[in-house]
Amino acid sequence: MPTKAKALFVIPVFIPHEGCPHCCVFCNQRRISGYREKPVTAQTVQKTVETWLDRKGPVQRKVQVAFYGGSFTGLPQERQRELLEILAPFLEQERVQELRLSTRPDYIDQERVALLQRYQVSTVELGVQSMKDQVLALAKRGHTAADVVQAILVLRQAGMEIGIQLMLGLQGDTQATLRQTVEQVIALQPDFVRIYPLLVVQQSELAEQYKRGKYVPLSLEKAVVLAAWMKERFEQAGIRVVRMGLQAGPELEASLLAGPWHPAFGELVASRLMLQQTRRLFAQIPVQESVQLCINERDQSVFRGMKLANVKRLQQLDLWQRITLSTNSAVPRGTVRMVL
Ligand code: SF4
Repeated sequence: MPTKAKALFVIPVFIPHEGCPHCCVFCNQRRISGYREKPVTAQTVQKTVETWLDRKGPVQRKVQVAFYGGSFTGLPQERQRELLEILAPFLEQERVQELRLSTRPDYIDQERVALLQRYQVSTVELGVQSMKDQVLALAKRGHTAADVVQAILVLRQAGMEIGIQLMLGLQGDTQATLRQTVEQVIALQPDFVRIYPLLVVQQSELAEQYKRGKYVPLSLEKAVVLAAWMKERFEQAGIRVVRMGLQAGPELEASLLAGPWHPAFGELVASRLMLQQTRRLFAQIPVQESVQLCINERDQSVFRGMKLANVKRLQQLDLWQRITLSTNSAVPRGTVRMVL
């Protein structure tokens, strides 16, 4: 059963590559998030938040300021204070309700978390990528699965909301190790998970490996299948899966060399899951019998699939002509129900 996401108005603040001395094989933060020569200043943060709040207008949604890119808690303390302090008036005036940031698991300890709490940060997303040490080592992440377990312990004790970012298609990762990662993450009970298919971007070490034929990216089809499986498994365990895939943008598209990139990756995954549900429903009824299926009215295109991919597949399986489709706003998004 899909878990309900919180409706938030998210204001993104990018701090590309700041605070991170590491060099993960897949990383080229400067390209992906539009690296600026000058680091983001408190004034830039303030201006960004003001601009987005003006754009938001009177919409009644909680506002969350989210720091993306880099490893926030790896920044010098003064720098962290500078970026967070500027947000205090927004929180006091209740123009912003939540602060979120992302960081590495090995950059979380009690002292760092105490600083975040002082500035009312409520959500921390950890770049975990995999729970298999050999996979993390091949990606040159510079941390282990044990660091993840420890970071979650500290964040949980502090009452933080915890997100975990995972990657699909890492070197050395197999279906078996991916499955183990998913189960280990479920055991850690984060509040949410974010899934990224691994892309090869220019000027990364992975790009060199790819050019030498040492790294073969996942196909889009395979990445969708794996992400769909992960999403389903996490949601069965009551863990919500938030926006999948990297945000489309000119910098990413300009630097992208290879990999399962699609601007609507999450929608492809959602379509795949609706196709699977439909096939499972057909498995419950006698062959040749027709069925009335009901979906949420906002899922019409997702159900049919991009470029009608699901319709075509169901036609190939001789199932499409047996379906009468209806819609009902009471059916949860992403769900296919059989009308009896
Ligand atoms: S930890 Fe994050 S910012 Fe640092 S190199 Fe790796 S992916 Fe890039």
